[in-house]
Amino acid sequence: MPNETSADLSIEAICERALDGTPPGAPELKALLSLSSIEAAEPLFATARELRHRTFGDIVFTSGFVYFSTYCRNHCNFCLYRKGNDAAPRYRKTLEEVVAVARGLASEGVNLIDLTMGEDPLTHESGDYTPVYEMIEAVRAETGKPIMISPGVVPADVIEKMKEAGATIYACYQETHNKDFFHKRRVGQDYDERAAARDAARRAGLLVEDGMLTGIGDTIDDRVNSILNMSDHDWDLARIMTFVPEEGTPLANLPVQSPLHEILVTATLRLMRPTWMTTASLDCESLAGTAARVNAGASVVTSIIYPETGLAGVALAEHDIEEGRRTVPAVLGVLGELGLRQGTDEEYAAWIERSRTAHVVPVA
Ligand code: SF4
Repeated sequence: MPNETSADLSIEAICERALDGTPPGAPELKALLSLSSIEAAEPLFATARELRHRTFGDIVFTSGFVYFSTYCRNHCNFCLYRKGNDAAPRYRKTLEEVVAVARGLASEGVNLIDLTMGEDPLTHESGDYTPVYEMIEAVRAETGKPIMISPGVVPADVIEKMKEAGATIYACYQETHNKDFFHKRRVGQDYDERAAARDAARRAGLLVEDGMLTGIGDTIDDRVNSILNMSDHDWDLARIMTFVPEEGTPLANLPVQSPLHEILVTATLRLMRPTWMTTASLDCESLAGTAARVNAGASVVTSIIYPETGLAGVALAEHDIEEGRRTVPAVLGVLGELGLRQGTDEEYAAWIERSRTAHVVPVA
């Protein structure tokens, strides 16, 4: 259980307790997330690396990203792909195109393939998700890689069918667990409905990823609240990203944010849940930001995008993609400089198996 009573909130004492098996409680999280610089947080990062090492050794995994439909019915005001934004690149990739991209990612050696879509009216308003099931099935058959499906909010029976089709992980990001703030950012969406989709995925036997967005007007208390919520639910993976102001959106004029908050959250999550898969996303600062995130305890580099296929990223939609700097070889170069290596598919499969059976919060 998190330590709620400790009086010593020095970074050293908090880290020592975490290494001894006592994760931070709310006061400790607040102290850690209030650190003012990367330099000041180095003891935290060293602790996060040590805890990652105890679970994963010297390995970090890679995840390939396939954004197969960029159409969306929603109006999240932080998102480039919100409905009606003419600045967003819009496309729907065919089954054949997606399989070809997945084959390319598999040949590069990614450990996971993340099939992501906006809440495309073609599926989400018709209720016919057959093309998504077929895509999961085809990519799984072609590559043999585990598949993360990120379809937005979908009914429980659809989630079950996605699992039957071959998905291993369901990703659905709340971004914040402050309900009022959620409704200001995910305009017109239901906090509880989104949360319930993750519960349904767990009941269906999928691993589950929640996510946080930092630097979007959220406070330190909001981040503490979100970390505790995610930890209490005992999910398996967490995606952490810094908000990037996007052209054509209501938040386009917000200042560009430092990644410090994201990196602090990454490290504190490792102290909370040492076995979780946590992200170093190429979406925020691309390859240049990877080392800092991995140094903070991240265990998977995400948003690797196969070049020359016209695919977009979530943020920095086109940055570094066609130049081939968001590829496995590019990421391996960074990992090598940090004395790390990419995990094998067998090691990733072993983590999946351990996660399936290790939930502190029982699967209902
Ligand atoms: S964050 Fe997702 S649900 Fe929201 S507008 Fe963007 S693509 Fe749609």
